[in-house]
Amino acid sequence: MISRDDCLKRDAADPLAPLREQFSLPAGVIYLDGNSLGPLPRATPERLAAVIRGEWGADLIKSWNSAGWIDLPADVGDQIAPLVGAGAGELIAADSTSVNLFKVLAAALRIVGEADPARCEIVSERDNFPTDLYIVQGLSELVGGRYTLRLVDSADEIPAALGPKTALLMLTQVNYRTGALHDMAALSAAAHTAGALTVWDLAHSAGALPVALNEDGADFAIGCGYKYLNGGPGAPAFVWVAPRHVDRFRQPLSGWMGHARPFDFVPGYEAGEGVARYLCGTPSILAMSALECGVETLLAAEPYGGMVALRAKSLALTELFIERVEARCAGKGLTLVTPREAARRGSQVSFAFDSAWPVCQALIARGVIGDFRAPDILRFGFAPLYIRFTDVWDAAEALAAVLETGEWLEARFAERSAVT
Ligand SMILES: *Cc1c(COP(=O)(O)O)cnc(C)c1O
Repeated sequence: MISRDDCLKRDAADPLAPLREQFSLPAGVIYLDGNSLGPLPRATPERLAAVIRGEWGADLIKSWNSAGWIDLPADVGDQIAPLVGAGAGELIAADSTSVNLFKVLAAALRIVGEADPARCEIVSERDNFPTDLYIVQGLSELVGGRYTLRLVDSADEIPAALGPKTALLMLTQVNYRTGALHDMAALSAAAHTAGALTVWDLAHSAGALPVALNEDGADFAIGCGYKYLNGGPGAPAFVWVAPRHVDRFRQPLSGWMGHARPFDFVPGYEAGEGVARYLCGTPSILAMSALECGVETLLAAEPYGGMVALRAKSLALTELFIERVEARCAGKGLTLVTPREAARRGSQVSFAFDSAWPVCQALIARGVIGDFRAPDILRFGFAPLYIRFTDVWDAAEALAAVLETGEWLEARFAERSAVT
């Protein structure tokens, strides 16, 4: 049986341990919510102060050229690219995940529609992150209800749902609630066999595990900047398109930043080169600078084995958490909803529990920050850049204590906040 001392030894022997120093983490807190909002990199406040005082304050509008502001979406995109198996020039940082999804859906549907206008179904999962489903609904409404969502209740049902009516297979690679990981290669191949294209949401996989967009045959992808990429609240998101589609797609938010020559100021729109046409309006330079600092915290892992080494640690952390919670909380009513098989899970562990909200609040009061996802999920993210084996041990002990003492029944933990 493993002990806390063994965890201390694993931390001491962990070659990735120094990477934690990149973050400004409050004392006395075990932060298991980096899958929802990554923590503050130590470099970010200084970088932002330099951008604000020097580039904006002193150099003013000249900084679009002199500080390279105009190239930031492509530069930050090139930094993210190797983390998700994309090549240089294939990925761009812009807007939010939801907005980018609208753009890629429209672009992908246009390509499919040119080949076969009868394809009208978008296959996805009922428990996909709601914004992904809502964006499909809004887009379809705009074109007279032309597209319908065909929702499955389990990944096993996906191959059978694909057919001659399928336009797109739209999936989130790691489920936000359960942490279940899809097989991108197999599902992309199945979609292509059915004559459809794929749109992948990497919100819970970019920066959490190695993603192989090109190798796995994906068509379009989007991802989030403020989760495992540590870009800060509301950070810009990103968009990727497979090189085979890059010159034949159009996206409908055809703003001037995506024009081939924005500073010609001509009245007609002409799409820019490749992925640059995914830009719409002026990027937030402050937010883009913070995202760059966040991405750099992951690139700092390259000398230690990069995403492959981070993945190995992440699986060791999640495996230990499952083992400790099952050992310490047996018979307390928790049900593991994350796949037990390592190859099938992302970097989080979730348990269903009838009163998940107050338990989550009681844990936060003890300094263990996870989160609650309606209706009954306790979710714990294990970002391998900064979570230690002792954190895993202590978090499981805190959960056991909250359940054993019944402190979660206290009235102060019952009140629901606006953001959960
Ligand atoms: C977090 C998340 C989003 C967030 O979208 P925003 O536009 O940034 O609010 C979208 N999709 C998935 C799957 C997510 O997990």
